Parts: sequence; C-alpha cells; structure tokens
Amino acid sequence: MALYVYKFGGTSVGSIERIKAVAKKVKKAHDLGDQIVVVVSAMSGETNRLIALAKALQQQPNGREMDVLLSTGEQVTVSLLSMALHEIGCDAHSYTGSQVKILTDSAHTKARILNIDELPIRSHLNKGKVVVVAGFQGVDEQNNITTLGRGGSDTTAVALAAALKADECHIYTDVDGVYTTDPRVEPKARRLDKITFEEMLEMASLGSKVLQIRSVEFAGKYNVALRVLSSFKEGKGTLITYEESPMESALISGIAFNRDEAKLTISGVPDLPGVAFKILGPVADANIEIDMIIQNIADDATTDFTFTVHRNDYQRAKAALDKTCAELGAKKVTADDGIVKISIVGVGMRSHAGIASTMFKALADEGINIKMISTSEIKISIVIDEKYLELAVRALHSAFKLDQEAVS
Ligand code: ADP
Ligand code: ASP
Ligand code: MG
Repeated sequence: MALYVYKFGGTSVGSIERIKAVAKKVKKAHDLGDQIVVVVSAMSGETNRLIALAKALQQQPNGREMDVLLSTGEQVTVSLLSMALHEIGCDAHSYTGSQVKILTDSAHTKARILNIDELPIRSHLNKGKVVVVAGFQGVDEQNNITTLGRGGSDTTAVALAAALKADECHIYTDVDGVYTTDPRVEPKARRLDKITFEEMLEMASLGSKVLQIRSVEFAGKYNVALRVLSSFKEGKGTLITYEESPMESALISGIAFNRDEAKLTISGVPDLPGVAFKILGPVADANIEIDMIIQNIADDATTDFTFTVHRNDYQRAKAALDKTCAELGAKKVTADDGIVKISIVGVGMRSHAGIASTMFKALADEGINIKMISTSEIKISIVIDEKYLELAVRALHSAFKLDQEAVS
C-alpha cells in the first residue's frame, strides 16, 4: 500500500463537472488500495475575484483580513470535492489549513509553513478515508488564518507529502508536465520526461508558474518525489529528479520568463564610494525586493544605476528613487514597466562556452534590443521590451533546438 498526495489546481476544479471528474480519478486510485490525500486550489478565477473585491475597498488591505478572505476559495473546493466523493461511494473528510493544522509564520499573504500536524490525517487514512486538504492556507501561533502566496497550493501538497513521508506527490494541472517553455507562448514547446531539481528551481524562480518556487524548495529539502501531470489526460508527466546525469543533459533545458518586473534607472549619479548603498538602502527600507542590478560608469565620473523590482512595487520604488535623486544631485530617474525578463536555464551550460553568444545572436537576428543581462552558473537572463516576448521566446527555443529531442 502506497501513500500519495495529489494536488489539483484551479482549472482542474473549475466547475462541478470537473470536480466530479477529479472525484472519479481519486476514487480509482483509492480503490486500488492506496492511501490518498488530496490538496485542492480554489476554482479557477476565484482568488483573482476575491483580490479584486478587496481592492475595490482598499488599495492596501490589512494582511490579516486579506487572508481571511482569500482562504475562503479553497474552503469551497474541499467541501465540494468531499461531497462529490461521498456521492460516488468514497468516504472522504475535508480539512481547512487551520484544522489540520498547518502551522505557519505570521507573514500574511506570503506565510511560510513551519510545521504540520500529521496525526489527524493519518488517523482518517487508517480508517480508509480519503483526506481532502485546502491548499494555500495555514494558521499562525496566534490562530490567525494565513495564506502562502500565489500558487501556494503546490507548497501545501509538497509539505504534506514531506510530513506524511508520502511515496509520491503528484501535481495535477492543465498541462501534462513541465515543458521546455510555457506552451501557451511557444506551441512547439516539448514536454520533458525529467528535469533536475536544480533546473526546476531556476525555472520556477525565473517565472515558470507551473510550480510555486517554495514547493520546489520544500521538495528539495525533504527529498519529496515530485511529478507534474495532467488532470485531464493519462500520461506519466514530468518527474523532478534529484540525480544529475550529465550524459543526458541538454545544454539548455528550458526557457522561463517573467512579466511581473519593472525597471528603474537613476542616471548622472556622482561615482563615489557608497553610492550603490545610498540608492538601494531606501528601496530596501521600504521592503521592496530587488532582482537584477547593473551599473555603468560614464567618462565624466558619473554613473548610471539600473535595477528591477516587482511591478506591484514599481510606484513605491520610483518615489524612493526620486527622493534619492534630489539628495544625491543626480541627473534623472527613468522608469519602465513595459519590460519582460527572459531566461535560459540548463545544467549543461556549466561545461559549455558559447551559450551566451548563441542567445544574443538569436535576439540580434530578430532585431530585439537587450536592455539588461545577468548570468549565473546555470542560467542567463535578459531584459527586453515586453512587446517582443513571444518573438524572443520562439527565437531562443529554435536557436537552442528545444523543439527537438535531446541527443544523449
Ligand atoms: P494550476 O492552477 O493547476 O496550479 P497554473 O496556472 O498555476 O496551474 O500552472 C500551469 C500553467 O503553467 C500552464 O497552463 C502553463 O501555461 C504555465 N507554464 C509556464 N511555464 C511552463 C512550463 N515550462 N511548462 C509547463 N507549463 C508552464
Ligand atoms: N488559489 C491560489 C491562487 O490562485 C493558490 C493556488 O491556486 O495554488 O494563487
Ligand atoms: Mg499553480
């Protein structure tokens, strides 16, 4: 007898018909004698709808109240799925995050899981029941409801799989695995049978929303066997593997992109020691996370300093920078929220030169101007105008022959 954690995303539970289909799939696995814990997201569109309701009242709603609101989406689907299971003769018991209990810190809307009480779940499983747990939510020490950030049901599933020492954690979604890039942008994208944990971590952190980054971190930390599969069609999906097999690894495994960033530049800053700190200090003090940074030195002993932030923080970062600009006697601040970051990822890039030049040539051939570049051992990221996103992703996909099967 094996124990599986199955997670179904918003589209997979987006209607009564789909909830019935999920119930059938779960019952089938349960009838084979395995123990099944199911984690569900809210119905598709529901979390966005709740956020819009809150924003209609307040631009920056209180975090605690926001989490009380957002957690309702998943409370609806756990109960409906349990009813659907009962209806077809499968005993099921639903839990909200706080009932389980999934203990988190108190960082509302982006809480981290600290501990999970697995005993109540185990006792239901041992009685032959399916346990249905609300994704994306937990409770803090003071009994406040918390949520885990967008896409957080993935993390609930992986954390439960770790706590219960499940044999596998299956993330069922609206695509049949992890692809070389988002198949919505490049229809020629290819499903990967396997992806290394390290690559999946980069892809998720660079914007591939197929798995929430924290779920991948959790899986790595606790060695959870993780697989991404389709809710709608049979198949083996993509296994996140912890073994690196350099023989098989392609130079580039995938292309990720992030539309959620904005770019800010302060130019004509006197080039003196401490200037980077003077620019970024106030941004950090405003609790704004910075992603890419570049600094150019001009001939006249001044410097231009450019960095990117999340688009949600764009206005606040601009305000902080305008203030710094006046204080430092710098020339001007320019800001651009019409950009996108595109990254190529692959463990194979470690041992091969020339990857960057292939990337830059593919973009040059399409006449796409690169605004920023950053690299690490297994990725290269560039920032370009958002309007070239599709063109750039497709050009890179073809330049690195990602539509073709990797040669081992
Ligand atoms: P769910 O609601 O099931 O959690 P998500 O929308 O969060 O689903 O994640 C699935 C989506 O991720 C896909 O529909 C796809 O558009 C997108 N995606 C982005 N990058 C990739 C990738 N490399 N492989 C597969 N899907 C990707
Ligand atoms: N419902 C939440 C969201 O839309 C969590 C999830 O789907 O994973 O972000
Ligand atoms: Mg998701």
